Amino acid sequence: MKAALVTGISGQDGSYLAEHLLGLGYQVYGLVRRAPGSTSWLAPIADRIELLHGDLRDASSLDTAFRTAWPDEVYNLAGQTSVPSSWEVPGETFDVNVGGLARLLEVVERRRPDTRVYQASSSEIFGNVDGLCNEMTPLHPTSPYGISKLAAHRLCEVYRGRGVYAVSGILFNHESPRRCPEMVTRKITRAAAAWARGDRTKLKLGNLEARRDWGFAGDYVKAMQVMLQRPAPKDYVLGTGESHSVADFVAQALVELRALNGGGFAFSTLEECVEIDPRLLRTGEIRDSRADAAMARRELGWKPDVEFPDMVRMMVRADLEAFSR
Ligand code: GDP
Repeated sequence: MKAALVTGISGQDGSYLAEHLLGLGYQVYGLVRRAPGSTSWLAPIADRIELLHGDLRDASSLDTAFRTAWPDEVYNLAGQTSVPSSWEVPGETFDVNVGGLARLLEVVERRRPDTRVYQASSSEIFGNVDGLCNEMTPLHPTSPYGISKLAAHRLCEVYRGRGVYAVSGILFNHESPRRCPEMVTRKITRAAAAWARGDRTKLKLGNLEARRDWGFAGDYVKAMQVMLQRPAPKDYVLGTGESHSVADFVAQALVELRALNGGGFAFSTLEECVEIDPRLLRTGEIRDSRADAAMARRELGWKPDVEFPDMVRMMVRADLEAFSR
């Protein structure tokens, strides 16, 4: 039985990955800073995984967790994941996103250099690109978050040069009902659930024209595992290849609300339910992002299964259910 250590296990990707690895017969260890609450996504699998206390900022806690798990594979999914927060706390963003990986790689190399490492890289490393991005696209990030992900990406490459099997999955935006509420998709689906229950508060958003390649997180974690089974380490871009604007996302959520309400719903246009808050506009905004995941399709046999309208439906319905609970 293979053992995996997942940092960030209580987050969206970590919880989907843990479920997936259990299904494949792995022994799953998760690194957590504090005990997850009973409402955590991990509750249904809590008795099948082992949580170890540790912090990416604390090398000795990583060493202790590593020696306990003695993992064949490490999935580094923990981090400071918000682009706007990275302007507020750039130092912490670097300490966790770059320093954390550096500490992990150091433990791997010292303790068990045959452990394979997956690093959660991000489409933010590309910056503003016209057209699709693949593994050859030049990297020009535009935020402290993007720079931190680029540094981590490069760190995997240099450790690879020393014989460590470390790969970066360059994931485009991936969402789900488990997405944290600060991200725009979940912010919208939570507002939609409130509107469905009669709330008429307008949702404050920033740039409605920004476009993202939004896929379903549950699809992406499967590729993470496959990436670590290849004969040689290699980075892959994962995404759907399609982008939609923030306004499109709101419009699709309204379509769902109308469908659930038998055709009628109080809001029919975006203007009725959304207002622009200039404070939410971004420096270095990525205008559009689209993945060319042809290499992952060809070499990993990976493709996303859930399409954009189905994902919006899944998220709106989950938030409606959460509200009614
Ligand atoms: P990101 O692509 O990883 O930064 O994911 P986000 O979900 O945070 O943002 C996606 C896009 O939505 C970005 O282009 C934001 O500028 C845009 N956006 C517009 N309004 C909002 C908002 O209120 N919150 C967030 N988080 N993003 C917003």
